[in-house]
This record gives sequence, structure tokens and C-alpha cells, in this order.
Amino acid sequence: MECLFCKIVSGEVPAQKVYEDDSMLAFRDISPMAPTHILVIPKLHLNSAADITTEHAAAIGAIFAKIADIAKAEGLSSGFRVVTNSGKDAGQSVEHLHFHIIGGRSLSLAFG
Ligand code: 5GP
Ligand code: ZN
Repeated sequence: MECLFCKIVSGEVPAQKVYEDDSMLAFRDISPMAPTHILVIPKLHLNSAADITTEHAAAIGAIFAKIADIAKAEGLSSGFRVVTNSGKDAGQSVEHLHFHIIGGRSLSLAFG
């Protein structure tokens, strides 16, 4: 198994886990860009958001419901950002679908 995040799912690579159930895992980013920086991934390997189909609707919906829970638990009441980078032009560096939860400071509106 080559994928880094699949290795985090299997426990082969350690991570600071925030939440886990049968279908998803949330863990702290190793290189946080804000006081709260958490990655939420489906355990099922998808390369990126470009691979999401209606088949995955329930799993993706559950991830977004959990993102709201995590943001509350992390105290991000004044706001947060959810980001997913898909492919080369977006600078995706790990090819396993992941949603960044970023918060805990004021974020500039940068899509550059
Ligand atoms: P991307 O650039 O693909 O949108 O995001 C990948 C994220 O994964 C980056 O923010 C990076 O810091 C994080 N990351 C890369 N390797 C590891 C790792 O081994 N453990 C954790 N927890 N995060 C990682
Ligand atoms: Zn994977």
C-alpha cells in the first residue's frame, strides 16, 4: 500500500487522531497553517474530489456533518474554512481525498 493517508488509516503511520468511525478519520495536520488545522478523510481511498460520484453522497454528507461537529468541539465559533485541493493546479500534495478544516485565526480571502 503506497498511499500515505491509507497508511494513517491502517495505523502504519501514526497521526494525532481527532475522530474516527468505520467510514472516516479526522487527524491533525502535521504542518498546521492555523491554530486549528485538521484533515478529514474517507477511509475509502479516492484520489481527490474529482473522483466523487453520487455513490459517495452519504459518506461525503457524513463527513460534512462531522466537520460541523469538529468545528464546534474545537471552539471555532467565530468561523472556519473547509478546503479540498484537487489535482496539480490546486497544489494537491497527498492523493487521497481530504478536507482541511482551518480556523482559530482570521483567514484572508485567498484563492490565488
Ligand atoms: P494538500 O496539499 O494535498 O491539500 O494537503 C496535504 C496536507 O497533508 C498538508 O497540509 C500536509 O501538511 C499534510 N500532511 C502531509 N503528510 C502528513 C503526515 O504524514 N501526517 C499528517 N498528519 N499530515 C500530513
Ligand atoms: Zn489512500
